[in-house]
Amino acid sequence: MTDMPSYDLSAVIRTIADYPKPGILFRDITTLLGDARAFRRAIDELVQPWAGAKIDKVAGIEARGFIVGGAVAHQLSAGFVPIRKKGKLPHQTVRMAYALEYGEDEMEMHVDAIAPGERVVLVDDLIATGGTAEGAVKLLRNIGAQVEAACFIIDLPDLGGAAKLRALGVPVRTLIGFPGH
Ligand code: AMP
Repeated sequence: MTDMPSYDLSAVIRTIADYPKPGILFRDITTLLGDARAFRRAIDELVQPWAGAKIDKVAGIEARGFIVGGAVAHQLSAGFVPIRKKGKLPHQTVRMAYALEYGEDEMEMHVDAIAPGERVVLVDDLIATGGTAEGAVKLLRNIGAQVEAACFIIDLPDLGGAAKLRALGVPVRTLIGFPGH
């Protein structure tokens, strides 16, 4: 049990209709990040299954995954590894294509960011179709990481992303589900 007051985290997430394009309900976590208690609560709840689990690295997906993942890494006393859009990292990289709603893009990480066999937790703010996270899992596995879990503050379960990751053998933790997309 915790002595922290219970928070309805969904109440501190702002929803913006038709952003970045018509028909999308954008789930804005800046309101959660700006609320000290809600931010702490979200990070505490995300890390709870892995407290004491000897996680070596937390991999965060650009850009909101850097904020959430950095806090998760600190809490787990793990290192942090950025997964970035292509062309942003200065050292030698490994690259993976991933599916977007329309088309494809590529993500990269430094080739030496994770040693073979290291235990990694993947972090982003939100999972929708799971295309981004699936690409990240494949990239991590390609360089020999052991992907212990993936965690997200928000799940859009109707889009099937969490199920897709579980089918890849990755345990998924999410804190809030919103219907639709
Ligand atoms: P996906 O690859 O479809 O799972 O999309 C996940 C990525 O897109 C994450 O990095 C999210 O930050 C972002 N994203 C997708 N849908 C939304 C949404 N409705 N609101 C906010 N961010 C979203």
